[in-house]
Parts: sequence; C-alpha cells; structure tokens
Amino acid sequence: MKNIVLFGPPGAGKGTQAKFLKEKYQLIHISTGDIFRYNIKNETKLGILAKSFMDRGDLVPDEVTINMLKAEVEKNKDARGFIFDGFPRTEYQAKALDDFLNEKGEKINGMVALEVPEYLLVERLLKRGETSRRPDDQDKSKIQNRFNEYETKTTVLKEYYEAQNKYFDVDGVGSIEEITERLSTVFDNL
Ligand code: AMP
Repeated sequence: MKNIVLFGPPGAGKGTQAKFLKEKYQLIHISTGDIFRYNIKNETKLGILAKSFMDRGDLVPDEVTINMLKAEVEKNKDARGFIFDGFPRTEYQAKALDDFLNEKGEKINGMVALEVPEYLLVERLLKRGETSRRPDDQDKSKIQNRFNEYETKTTVLKEYYEAQNKYFDVDGVGSIEEITERLSTVFDNL
C-alpha cells in the first residue's frame, strides 16, 4: 500500500491537490474536515458534537477524530492506499495512526508538506469562504485561531515524521498543475 499524509496549514491546497493525486495514484482520499462537514450537514450525533469546535476554528477532540478515521479506513478494505488530508493534526493522532496501521501490517510511506506563506493562506481562505460559506473561512479571527491551533499542536508532526525519515516538503505556491507536478515527483518515490 501507498499511505501518504498530505500536510500543510489551512489553505495550503491539500484538498485541491488530493483530488488530482487520488485519481493519478488510485488512492482513497480521506479528508477528516470533509467528513465532519458531511456529518454537520446531515445533523448526525458526530456532526453535532464536532460543530462547536469547528465553528470556532478549534480542533475536534482526538478520540472522536481517531475513531472516525479508523472507521473510514475500515470501510475501504480493498484500497491500494490512502491520502490522509487534515489528519493527523496532533502527535497523539499520529501515534494512533501508526499503531492502527501497524496492526494491519501497513505503514505511512511519507508525509508530504505543502509550504505556503501565511499572507497567501489568508487570501485563499477568505476567497474560498465567499463560495464555500464555511463559517471558519469567513472570519479573520477564526482563521487566525486555526493557524494558532496549527502552530501549537500540528507543526510538531514535521519532527515526528522527520525522525522516521518520512518528511518531504514541496513549494505550494504556483499554478494547481505545477504543484501537482511537484507533488507527483515525491509521490512517485514513496
Ligand atoms: P479542514 O477542512 O481540514 O480545514 O478542517 C476543518 C476543521 O475540522 C478543523 O478546523 C477542525 O475543527 C476539524 N478537523 C479536521 N480534521 C481534524 C483533525 N485531524 N483533528 C481535529 N480536528 C479536525
């Protein structure tokens, strides 16, 4: 299997790129943010629980997120591999993912990070907010809170995967096609 963590701050382009990469490499794309939004839309128990955290731009608690992720992986028994988008976001989640894959005799092949300067991220998120109507994309203070969550809880994952020689970064500024090309060069070798 090819299991890849697509990494980067909010607005880095993970979702956009995952759509192309999943086709190209025949992988299952799991976006935890998308699954939460689907549950919110359908007013499930999980959605109701996640909504207050998401609306503020806070992370949803680890246990809830990990259980959801595991269920999603289990739904795809025949997968050739996964692109994890927006997961893991804490060291606790990363360890849980390693343990979970380990039990299956699988592993993460690599973490591929999209690097984009913060001023561009804010621009992209506010622009997306105009059409997505996502509450967490429309308000500068919520966006700032998401960056804070990223800085304080998520950036440590770079070291986590570096320690396993699995960290690769890619310039996330340019056209969508250019960035897909850059990512593909890394994916090809994983
Ligand atoms: P995203 O679509 O990846 O930007 O995620 C939107 C929101 O969903 C985040 O701000 C969190 O509230 C929640 N979320 C998504 N993935 C996770 C995760 N792995 N851990 C905790 N919260 C998450």
